[in-house]
Amino acid sequence: MVDLDGVGMTSRRTRERLIQRLKDNGIKDQQVLNVMRATPRHLFLDEALSHRAYEDTALPIGFAQTISQPYIVALMTQLLLSRGPRKKVLEVGTGSGYQAAVLSQLVDQVYTVERIKPLLDKARARFRSLEMRNIICTHSDGGIGWPEHAPYDGIISTAAPEGVPDDLLYQLAPDGLLVIPVGSENNQELRIISRVGDSQNYDEEVVEKVRFVPLLSGVTR
Ligand code: SAH
Repeated sequence: MVDLDGVGMTSRRTRERLIQRLKDNGIKDQQVLNVMRATPRHLFLDEALSHRAYEDTALPIGFAQTISQPYIVALMTQLLLSRGPRKKVLEVGTGSGYQAAVLSQLVDQVYTVERIKPLLDKARARFRSLEMRNIICTHSDGGIGWPEHAPYDGIISTAAPEGVPDDLLYQLAPDGLLVIPVGSENNQELRIISRVGDSQNYDEEVVEKVRFVPLLSGVTR
């Protein structure tokens, strides 16, 4: 049985403290806050770490990767929804599956790609046991997006390239939004890039300094 409510350090009260912290740090979108409250982050971690699931920190998920900090997940999701609802969204970097799980409750369809096979397999099992049927995932290099399902109303990258990959821009629908950390390991900024109508022009805004794992090319089995 899936433990949705959680006990002790994963209890409702512990979760509520996290939501309060997100509010204090500027997350205002009530829909995003509600989904963050309802999403069992402890189920996206190995059992040994699940008691820390509602701390506002990134945590290891193996293979030198991390589940993103809740504040960052909330911020990226809020940004993605900040210019009207999105139907079809691509995530680059499935990792634990947590960000995709949050998105799946706010948009119609989530496509997500991961380059490390064992991480993808675990995430897929989580989506299945949580009955999140609008998440479609695959094992591939997301630096080239997922062209078969393009265009997307929104794209979120949870790994940081040195520069914005053109393929991601080309896979945006008219007025589509790309939320992406860009830069080298110690000097990254979160950007929100919007396609202007159906043109090939893009507006860009820097949101804040961030620290993500790097976007790597190729896949590992
Ligand atoms: N969204 C994840 C965050 C995981 S960290 C979560 O909520 O848990 C970022 C992930 O991006 C890592 O799992 C890493 O393996 C993956 N990644 C890095 N480069 C990638 C690429 N080119 N294609 C797909 N995934 C990539």
